[in-house]
Amino acid sequence: MVKRWAVVLLLCPLSACMVFEPSGPPGDADPAVFETPEERIQPARDQSAAVAVKEAAVDRAVVQGVKKTSEPVAAPGMTPGKETGKAPDTVAESTLGPGVQQHSRSGQLFVGGKDPADRLCEEVGSRLGSVSIQECRRQGLRHSAYTILNRSLAYKDYPPLATRQPLGRVLLIGGIHGDEFSSVSVVFKWMEILNRHHSGMFYWRFIPASNPDGLLKSKAQRQNHNGVDLNRNFPSRDWETDAHAHWLEVAHQNPRRDPGPAQASEPETRWLVEQIEAFQPDVIISVHAPHHLVDYDGPPEAPDKLGRLRLHRLGVYPGSLGNYAGIDLDLPVVTVELQSAGIMPTVQEIDQMWRDLIGWLRRQLTEVPRTAASEESPLTP
Ligand SMILES: [Zn+2]
Repeated sequence: MVKRWAVVLLLCPLSACMVFEPSGPPGDADPAVFETPEERIQPARDQSAAVAVKEAAVDRAVVQGVKKTSEPVAAPGMTPGKETGKAPDTVAESTLGPGVQQHSRSGQLFVGGKDPADRLCEEVGSRLGSVSIQECRRQGLRHSAYTILNRSLAYKDYPPLATRQPLGRVLLIGGIHGDEFSSVSVVFKWMEILNRHHSGMFYWRFIPASNPDGLLKSKAQRQNHNGVDLNRNFPSRDWETDAHAHWLEVAHQNPRRDPGPAQASEPETRWLVEQIEAFQPDVIISVHAPHHLVDYDGPPEAPDKLGRLRLHRLGVYPGSLGNYAGIDLDLPVVTVELQSAGIMPTVQEIDQMWRDLIGWLRRQLTEVPRTAASEESPLTP
C-alpha cells in the first residue's frame, strides 16, 4: 500500500493525485466496512429552525460554489478548490481526437449521430474541476432521455454477478441541484470505486448528473432550465394541495425553490420517476450539498453517520424526492449532504462515506449471516 501511494505521487501532478489516487479497497466486499463503530444519533432539531438554517446555508454555499476568482479556504478534512473552476490539466482533454468519440461506450447504437451521453461527458468534464472528460467517458453512461436543452439523462448499472444474489437494488442520484458541483463529482468517485470493487453485493444504478441543464449553465443554477427546483417537483401526494402554498408562505417565492407549474411538469423529474418505477430500488441515495449531514426519509432505520456526516433529519417538503419516494412510496431515501457545494471532500472522506454507506446498506438489506456474505466475496482474501 505504501508503495502504491509512492508511485502515484511520483507519476501525477498534485491536483490529479488528489482526485484520482487509487485509494485502498473500500469496495462493497471489503469486510472492514462491517466493523464501523456505532455512533450516537444526534437529536433532531426544531423543524422550522432547521429549515431556516438550511436555506441560509444553501445560499452561502452557492456563492462559494460558483465563485471562480480565488481558491476557497478548505475546512478541515477537505480538499480546496476542486470544483471552483476547470483545472488546467483536464482542459486539454477537450482536444481528444474524434476516434475516441465515435463509439457508444454503453454499447448503444446511435445512427448518424454521436452518443448523447458522450456529449454530456464533454460538457461535464469541461465544467467540473474533479471529473475529467475521460473519467466521465470511461463510465460508459447509458443515454436514456433528453433534458429541455437536449442534454442526455444517462445512467450506469452495476448489475448482479452470476456468482452472487444481490442483497438489493440501490439507486444513487447526484446533481438534482445543478449548482451543487460536489454532488456530481463525488458520485463519479464512487463509481470509480465500484468499477474496481463491484462484488455483486448490490445491484446499483448510478445517475451522476440528474440536472445537467442546471449544472452546465454558464452560471450553474440549482433549478433546471425552466427555473424549476426539481426537488420540489416530484409528484408527492401533497403536491397539489401544498406545493405552491409552501413556496408562497414558507419559501417566500424564492425562485430557487419554485415547485413548477404542475407536479412532475419537468422532463428530468418525470425521468427520475420513471427510473424509480423501472428499476424498483430498495433504497435511494441522493447526493446534495452543503449541509454537512445525512438526512433520511422512509423506513426502516437511518444511517447515523457517513464519513464525517452525521444524521440530522430535516423533514420533507411538498414535491421533494424524500417526500415522494420516502413517504409516499415507503422507500428508504438517504440524502447525503456534503459539506460544500464547491469544495470536494478529501479522498479519505469520500472513501469513508462509501464504506459507511455500504455498511449501512448491508445492515438494512442483508438476510444472510455476515460471515457467509464475506466468504462469498471474490475480493475477500
Ligand atoms: Zn441540493
